[in-house]
This record gives sequence, structure tokens and C-alpha cells, in this order.
Amino acid sequence: MQLPIALLEKYSKAGPRYTSYPTAPYFSESFGEADWLAEIQSTQNLGRDLSLYVHIPFCDTLCYYCGCNMVATKKYDKATEYLDHLFREIDQIAALTNPARTARQFHWGGGTPTYLRPDDIRRLYAHIAGKFTIAPDAEISCEVDPRELTREHVKALRESGFNRVSLGVQDLDEKVQKAVNRVQPESLIREVFGWMREEGFASINLDLMVGLPHQTVETFAVTLDKIVALAPDRLAVFNYAHVPWMKKHQTLIDETALPKLPERLALQQLIMDKLHGAGYVYIGMDHYARPDDELVKARQTKTLYRNFQGYTTHKNCDIYAFGASSISQTDEVFVQNVKKLSEYYALVETGKLPTERGLRVTHEDKLRRDAITRIMCDLELDKAAFGAQWGIDFDRHFADALPELADMAADGLVTLTPGKIAVTDMGRIFLRNIAMPFDAYLKQAADAKPRFSKTL
Ligand code: SF4
Repeated sequence: MQLPIALLEKYSKAGPRYTSYPTAPYFSESFGEADWLAEIQSTQNLGRDLSLYVHIPFCDTLCYYCGCNMVATKKYDKATEYLDHLFREIDQIAALTNPARTARQFHWGGGTPTYLRPDDIRRLYAHIAGKFTIAPDAEISCEVDPRELTREHVKALRESGFNRVSLGVQDLDEKVQKAVNRVQPESLIREVFGWMREEGFASINLDLMVGLPHQTVETFAVTLDKIVALAPDRLAVFNYAHVPWMKKHQTLIDETALPKLPERLALQQLIMDKLHGAGYVYIGMDHYARPDDELVKARQTKTLYRNFQGYTTHKNCDIYAFGASSISQTDEVFVQNVKKLSEYYALVETGKLPTERGLRVTHEDKLRRDAITRIMCDLELDKAAFGAQWGIDFDRHFADALPELADMAADGLVTLTPGKIAVTDMGRIFLRNIAMPFDAYLKQAADAKPRFSKTL
């Protein structure tokens, strides 16, 4: 398959990544602590399991491409102070939670969770495990920065109960690494990867990033070959989101060194060719896995789901997220904690939930969320089944989306039959674009200034 450059030019536009619908920019401060408290209290006996998330915002240094909510500091005291408050927030939510509810998924993200010292990793894990029931077969995962990591960190994670890790690599090319202020030699990646395997993690994911300064097809091919040789269980190849109007530090990136459209197109082609050639199966946006991975099985059985942690097999879980900026979710509600540490501390100290904003979804939101999820996870949508499930005439209900989809069909991104919308191989690169016609909020905000990164 050859990708035409005209398509990239046409479809490279601002759009959400759909880790939620409605997307986070539409959360409102009119949804506050009292609303979230009421939602927690009224949803304890619905039989839904839990997915727990902990946000550790600290990093040793700043990567110039970073899009996360993080604080770069060498002062470990800050982490200790944060943990004290995190424990209090965990206790607040645990006290409201039905102890019969089981956590099926538990993820630590950041920032850099392994910024924490090994003893603090053990302490934090033990604290949560003492407050919530974690299923014996739960997926327990942690994002890991290979720099500053010691074998002791890896042991602390494994001994605590983590069975999955996600290692941030981005690119092995030194020139690219220097340009984004994240220098981590290949030998270090290999060593850390070896530790993970030796300690017996069930699944190792490697994160790469495409679209960084000085990346070329030649340099990234070398990176991909070396990464594939390590044989990770999963691979994510994220598109760099250049949003300097939102992330001021991204102005430190030399824009003239960013790959131009033809190069970006060639890089996309390279990723598909290399990873398929190495036997990896495309899961959905940016994600690949080995054929025996449960994400692959979930995609085949149409049980894949998407949430703030990316693709998941755990659809019917409420997410309870702890820490500054973290986002919780029930079937009806999204809620985000305050981002500033000083505000987070002040609220937790007064015994309040550190809620900043949120949203209660409408029936129409749920319906559209389901349509977007089917596109992002199943890569197809059965219109009759969908219509029957939601009690709608699909074509009439989504009349606003059909002209855009017809245009995409003409461009070869989807095939449209009376019963089905199916994403083509070429369309996989434009998955965000294919979901966007179902997004009612995007239509309302057509004149607003861009709030999202480019789709490609
Ligand atoms: S380690 Fe991750 S969170 Fe920290 S600055 Fe780098 S990209 Fe951002």
C-alpha cells in the first residue's frame, strides 16, 4: 500500500485522540466536588469493577516534546510531600468505596512513577493494596523511564505486584535524543529491558515517538530494527503532538528540524511495513502487539475499549484516579483533579476531594461515544446492530456525519455499504479523522481556536 501525500495534506488537522468522549477540553468547572461525591456515593452498588490510576508528576529533567502534566525537579522532598497528600486522597476515596468492588486494572503514570525511590514505590503500592481489593489476576502496570532507573526499582515494582511495564524509548538516534533533551543510550535501554525480562514481567511495552526533530526514514528504520530485535510484547508509536500554544516548553524544539509532510508520510509507511513484517498486529491508533496478546484477541472478539490509559480489555470498570490532574470516570461522569500541586495540597488538607472540573454525559454523548469507540477499537461499525442497540435509525441519526464519511470513502479511508462502515488499511493512519464526524462537540467548536494536536 502506498500512501498519497495529498491525503496527508488533506487530513492532517487538529483533532482529539479520543481517550474519552466527550473529550477533556469540554469538561466544565460547573461540575465540582459535590457532584463527584454524589456520583461516587450513588454508584457503589451497580456491580462495576474498578480500574485504579495513580499520577506521579515528577521527572528529573524536561523532555522538550512532553505533553504530560509534570514537574521537573531534583528535589526529592517534593515527592515525599506529594505522597503524604496522595495517601490522604486515596483514603478519602477508599472510605467511600464498597469493599466488595474489585480492581481489575491498576496503572501508575506520570510524569515518571519511577522517580519514586524503591522504598516509596513499595510504600505507595502497599498503601493502596491495603485500602482496595486488587484482583489476583489484575493488570498492574507502570510507566518507566530508563534513565535514573536502578535494578532496585525494578525489583520494588515486581515484588509489589506489578506485572506489566511500559518503557519510554521514543528514538534511539543520538541526534534526535539530544534535540529533545532525552539522552538515553541504546545500551541503557537494552540493560533495563533485560532487567524487566529477568524479573519476570508478563508484558513489556515500549513507547516510541514519530515526528521528532531530525528523524528521517533512514534513522528511524535503524531504531525500529533495534527495537523489534528486543521483541517487546507491545509497541506504541505515538505521533509527536506539537502544541506550543498549550505546552510552552515545546518552543525549545527547533521547528525547522521537524519532519515535513512527505517525510512524515514515509515514516508512517515505514512503521507499518516494519512492524507488520516483524509479526506485530495493529491494534488501533499508534498501538501494535504480538499476535497472542490479549489486546489482539479483544479486537478480534470486539471487546476492546479505549480509556485514558489507552486501549484496554476492561470495559465495565469505573476509573478512580489519584493525584494532581488525574481523571476519574464512571459510566455517567468524567472528573478531573486540580493540576497545580499547591491547590491539590490545599484541598486535600481541608478534607475535600481535589476536583477541578468534570462532566455528566447525556444519552446522546453515550451513543456517540459508542460509535467513536467502535471505530477506534473495532475499526468497523455495524449500522443495523448499532441502531438496534440504541433504538435509532443510524443513517438518520448521523445524517450530519455521512457526507464527511462519504468523502473519506472516496479517498479510500473507509468502505461504506448499506450495513457497515469499515476502516481500510489506509484509513488506519487516519483513525482520529474517521471518528471525528461523530463528535458533536467538535462541530459546535468549529470556530474556536485549536485545542487539539494534529491528527498526523
Ligand atoms: S519523562 Fe515523560 S513526563 Fe517526564 S518530561 Fe519526559 S516525556 Fe514528560
